[in-house]
Amino acid sequence: MISERAGVLLDAFQSIDRAVSGEGHVEPSVVSYIQRLQQALSQPEPLTLQIAKQLHGLRGKEAYLFTGFVVPGLYPEGENDGPLGTLVLARALHLAGLIPMIWVDPQLLDNIMWLAAELAVSVPIKAIDLAQLAECRNEPAVVIAIEKPGANDNGIMHTFAGLPVSSGSISIDALFLEWNAMGTLTMAIGDRGNEIGFGALREQVVQWAPGSTDCHCGCTGGVAATTPAQFLLPAAVSNWGAYGVAASMAILARDKRLLLTPAEEERLLRVAAVRGCVDGICRRGVYGIDGLPGATSVALVQELQRIAQRAMSEESE
Ligand SMILES: [Zn+2]
Repeated sequence: MISERAGVLLDAFQSIDRAVSGEGHVEPSVVSYIQRLQQALSQPEPLTLQIAKQLHGLRGKEAYLFTGFVVPGLYPEGENDGPLGTLVLARALHLAGLIPMIWVDPQLLDNIMWLAAELAVSVPIKAIDLAQLAECRNEPAVVIAIEKPGANDNGIMHTFAGLPVSSGSISIDALFLEWNAMGTLTMAIGDRGNEIGFGALREQVVQWAPGSTDCHCGCTGGVAATTPAQFLLPAAVSNWGAYGVAASMAILARDKRLLLTPAEEERLLRVAAVRGCVDGICRRGVYGIDGLPGATSVALVQELQRIAQRAMSEESE
């Protein structure tokens, strides 16, 4: 029955939204913040369903994925949050029939190649070059920013702790605004509110994350990002949001090859750690993500796999 099938699917996507909010995996205060942000956007359908449906409709089209959070002295070669999710989502898009291309800050290029090899992802990966991007800005049907710093009202990008990202990550805010204006589909995944895409929820970030109104660079603009995306997925960890979108696409495409496996997540986190992609909270290369143990991220991946596999098997019954 169609209605029964729709019910099974709706339940699965709601579970994926909840999983990527960190429910059962991270501190309740974080889950509550992320779920409130999600709820501000998730009508009438779960966010991961909205996003996966859009992407599913773009088979044969180009998708540009952006990642890289580089801060000299803190994360000279970027964080491990962002690149892993970007590769997993690019693999899913490729398997679903889209034509993905990954753009990263130049400082990340070497590391993301290692991670791509570990995951056997064979999509083009390029260093962000604003002149080159300006020339090919008509090509993508969708652009997706994953854990990419976004500028505040004064045009300054910050870490969530309030440090300016000067001479680190290249700002792609202007390009994103242009894509929004051109009608190119824009999507973003972030986990705090200082990333590109959160412009759509700026008021909520300022209200619900009081520390976001402060920064330590004297610009007085706070850390909340102002550039919106048409589709934004707030997640407890940005990688998790990207894994959730991949799982959602696996369900829509009925193809479990799109899913990240727990064993792959473990290997990716270990490669990232030895390559110097640091944990954004403890600022060292460790087997973990955003201050959480690596095992937590592996458990989250396992939960997404379970949700997607159950939806696919119930659907085929
Ligand atoms: Zn500032």
